[in-house]
Amino acid sequence: MIERTLVIIKPDGVQRSLAGRIISRFEDAGLKIVGMKMNWIDDAFAKEHYSDIGERYGKRILENLVNYIKEGPVIAMILEGVDAVENVRKITGSTYPNEALPGTIRGDFSHISKNYANKKERKVGNLIHASATSKEAKEEIKLWFSIDELHNYKTVHEQHTF
Ligand code: UDP
Ligand code: MG
Repeated sequence: MIERTLVIIKPDGVQRSLAGRIISRFEDAGLKIVGMKMNWIDDAFAKEHYSDIGERYGKRILENLVNYIKEGPVIAMILEGVDAVENVRKITGSTYPNEALPGTIRGDFSHISKNYANKKERKVGNLIHASATSKEAKEEIKLWFSIDELHNYKTVHEQHTF
């Protein structure tokens, strides 16, 4: 199934000047960029985006996470491709960078662990967000992008193969 998913380069990814290399990982795998923008996230929007985190991890982690996502501007993009949600999560790697495999974005560019972060009461800085399920992707795309910010065009691969 061709589907769309949301990726956000979080403030640490932008501040470390990794945006180009992160985007390249997805382009290299053949995923198509259909929308992209740079934004500062405010408190209300952060809480809406991370609406399930309080329930899943508790109030303290939610607070750290909301502060994390507001530390600087983020780059948000919609990627399209075959089973895009699952493929993008594969390229992203596990939530905790110390557990993320080499070759993934989180595994290659970070190494912080859940234990360290939580002992120090710090965020788990893991460079990017990627929608975890198709349902989450649909909701997040609607939250982050309006219809006129999403673009229809053919990549050269599509022009030559279909
Ligand atoms: N997070 C954190 N501490 C934790 C667990 C999660 O700071 O103990 C942050 C981390 O940045 C993660 C985000 O919360 O990316 C959202 O958590 P989720 O479980 O949805 O992970 P993801 O879908 O990003 O892999
Ligand atoms: Mg998640």
